[in-house]
Amino acid sequence: MNQVDLHMHTNHSDGTFRPRELVRHAKEKGLTCISVTDHDTMSSFDECADEAKKIGVELIPGIEISAQFEPGTLHILGYFLDPGQSELQSTLASIQKARLERNPQIIQKLNQLGVSITLAEVEAESGGKQIGRPHFARVLLKKGVVKSMEEAFDKYLGKGQSAYIDKRRLSSRESIQRIRKAGGIAVIAHPKQMKLDEKSLEKEFERLASEGLGGIEAYNSCQSAAEAGLYKRIAKRFNLFVTGGSDFHGTNKPDVQLGSLGNGAALGYEVIQQMKSSLGRK
Ligand code: AMP
Ligand code: ZN
Ligand code: FE
Ligand code: FE
Repeated sequence: MNQVDLHMHTNHSDGTFRPRELVRHAKEKGLTCISVTDHDTMSSFDECADEAKKIGVELIPGIEISAQFEPGTLHILGYFLDPGQSELQSTLASIQKARLERNPQIIQKLNQLGVSITLAEVEAESGGKQIGRPHFARVLLKKGVVKSMEEAFDKYLGKGQSAYIDKRRLSSRESIQRIRKAGGIAVIAHPKQMKLDEKSLEKEFERLASEGLGGIEAYNSCQSAAEAGLYKRIAKRFNLFVTGGSDFHGTNKPDVQLGSLGNGAALGYEVIQQMKSSLGRK
């Protein structure tokens, strides 16, 4: 049975579970080692760590940074980070600023498209925490503008769709460097979402490895067993750790269960030990 899940979100980014709830949910699911990887923030870390200690779950400090990329998306996970490292903190503060600038622009686009929606409604949906596109999607769903979260992204919010606004992002090199300087290991999340064919993917990983990448998330709830096989071959070729996670977002991604890494895949604890020993930790 799978006991390790290294990719999940709290309501500090765009998940629906509060930090302590998420850690308790992990325990109930039989997970023994998790990483909470909110988008561009580690603000849930202290609460998660406190709860994890209380109930006996190993928590690896984590994050998921959105980097510049075409044609798909490039999300870079960071593991074993020191959340208090000052450069990491200032980088995250500047990313927060970029998000704050983007939100009213998305509202403006939606309004121009004839959709009645206000920033206050989206802020209420996020509970005053970091706003992500799933919060916009939920408001659209509640208002009956769309019939599903998926439709909200397909019609309005997805990359290249009618209300899409890009935000300032770090390059992959900058993201990887910030993660490493904060004591961490950088791992490409859900490589499927880079939307590259096999040959281009290999080229891209050659570049990312030269930038200091440490791992690839071969197992993710959005990836098939065949895709996981390809990513494991890439890991071998470029000497990367193979990791995995569910990408659990609570009811913002209702089909994804905590602890499910896709196709019944399981991630052994060995990779955690290997990552720790590469960092000189016990
Ligand atoms: P943001 O960080 O605000 O740009 O939002 C990114 C999040 O939106 C991702 O982590 C997903 O949870 C969600 N998302 C992005 N694209 C889609 C899509 N096409 N369908 C469903 N959810 C999406
Ligand atoms: Zn998300
Ligand atoms: Fe992601
Ligand atoms: Fe994620």
